[in-house]
Amino acid sequence: MLRSFRFRTLRIILLLIILFVVAMNTWLTSVRIHSWNRPVWVVLYPINADGRRDTQAYINALSAEHFDEIKLFLQREADRYQVNLTPVAEFYLAPALLVQPPEVELDASLFERVFWSLHMRWWSWRNDSWNGPEPDVRIYLRYFSPQESQQLSHSLGLQKGMIGLVNGFASVDYMGTNNFVIAHELMHTFGASDKYSLDTNEPLYPEGYADPDQKPLLPQTRAEVMAGRVKVSPGWLVMPQSLNDVVVGPLTANEIDWQQSLH
Ligand SMILES: [Zn+2]
Repeated sequence: MLRSFRFRTLRIILLLIILFVVAMNTWLTSVRIHSWNRPVWVVLYPINADGRRDTQAYINALSAEHFDEIKLFLQREADRYQVNLTPVAEFYLAPALLVQPPEVELDASLFERVFWSLHMRWWSWRNDSWNGPEPDVRIYLRYFSPQESQQLSHSLGLQKGMIGLVNGFASVDYMGTNNFVIAHELMHTFGASDKYSLDTNEPLYPEGYADPDQKPLLPQTRAEVMAGRVKVSPGWLVMPQSLNDVVVGPLTANEIDWQQSLH
């Protein structure tokens, strides 16, 4: 009786120590990223989410250059805010993972989300195909064939955990939108918040608009990275096709500490 009680206490203490170390590690990474004095290391892990052959063929043909657009976008925007760091981020492509990450429903309760977030971190620690230096941020790219799926479920970025989970289409036609979603989730891991209405998907005014002072206000032609969509006219929202038409707005820049030179 006493032995098993001791064993259980020991296990709980060990688990708490592990959780504490993980939390400290994440906190230190976050502080380091926010000081913007060395490039953020991002590792991308492709996953064949529907098990199809065309999806696999797309994944097999992927290389790190396919994600250069994200690097260029971050650099262009960081330079605009005088962050004074080149490169701002470096991207590496890990070998494809053969396991599926844990899923969470969009309408999950707070408890389910917290549990999922812990589960995801545990999963990410157990399933690592990357052999290089420890990444600052891990982005999991779940690819689906556009032949099979018409609509993708939501992507996620966890600041506490430095993990992004992105659902994308396995087709060159969708490379621009995939890169946009990766950039959005990456900004979440840096600490940026969403700037659109969860009910209507409409960008919030003014922080979700790329050009909030434009007259007339509509049509907008560019997107704010955390707003996700461009408002063309009332009721007409479009997703940007490329990161060339996306900006980091002042509020997002503030959240990720890009405005330090302006403080
Ligand atoms: Zn978001």
